Amino acid sequence: MTRPRARCSVSIDLDPIRCYYRIHGLGEPPEELRATIMRRAVPRFAQLFAARGIVATFFVVGEDLDPSFDAHDARAAHALLGELVAAGHELGNHSHRHPYELARLGAERVADEIGRCDALLRTVDPRPVAGFRAPGYDLSPVMVAELLRRGYSYDSSIFPAPGYYAAKAAVMGALAALGRPSGAVMTNPRALVAPTDPYRPSPKAPWRRGQAAIVELPIAVTPWLRLPAIGTNLLIAPRAIRDRVVDAMLGRSFFNLELHGIDLADADLDGIPGELVARQPDLRVPLAAKQAALGAILDRVLARADVITLRDAAAWAQREAA
Ligand SMILES: [Zn+2]
Repeated sequence: MTRPRARCSVSIDLDPIRCYYRIHGLGEPPEELRATIMRRAVPRFAQLFAARGIVATFFVVGEDLDPSFDAHDARAAHALLGELVAAGHELGNHSHRHPYELARLGAERVADEIGRCDALLRTVDPRPVAGFRAPGYDLSPVMVAELLRRGYSYDSSIFPAPGYYAAKAAVMGALAALGRPSGAVMTNPRALVAPTDPYRPSPKAPWRRGQAAIVELPIAVTPWLRLPAIGTNLLIAPRAIRDRVVDAMLGRSFFNLELHGIDLADADLDGIPGELVARQPDLRVPLAAKQAALGAILDRVLARADVITLRDAAAWAQREAA
């Protein structure tokens, strides 16, 4: 008897450099870094995926496609994302301006953030957008209501990793003590006890199981210890640890591997300022090493799992739930 193959989805959050400046309390980045992630990192992901015949889900921040911010950058992003869609990749909604406080905002602001990104994504791919990921992994009932209203089939924001939560609290506390508060917002700790496998959420408390007509696809954490199995950690981990985490995830029915655009950025090649490099250990690892690590992860995944978009994973999870 052969074991059924596992399923894996690979997603990339395209947070612009501005977001990292905000997390680290650095103010606004230089203007020329506005589209660095889109222009420099996205083609690198596309190349790694094309070489392996993998389709992925790219979570787009709407402002990158918004001509009212920068018409030239928006046109370039439109062309690039269009190529991704033509290659079979999925585009997901990562809000319009990536406000870390989105989970604390009311229905009108949430509808505006989700709606504007949705409209911009449809200028690239006219098919209905299927999925959403909240900024800062923080999902609120208000967001779920908006996703249901729009007929989205999934959300993928829940990240039940206490270690990530503790690390974020430590960084935010240290910055506050320095009088330079982080622009990040503390994630709702209730999500830490959320299920780690796909589930139908409760509309009023989406970190719990319920009957909402949408599926939650939680971001990967390891069995038992709930260590975050996300790209930013895996790409800079020693190989033996990386392999063990990937193998543990492949033992589950679904591995939701989350990456960020910045994971394939290179401080030197992409002109990322020292003030940010000093605060992000992954930016001190050369691009070639990170590309090799991601390639090795994907090859290990492909040996045991089928790689599908989150849209297709949601359809599978819906069938399982029915
Ligand atoms: Zn993000």
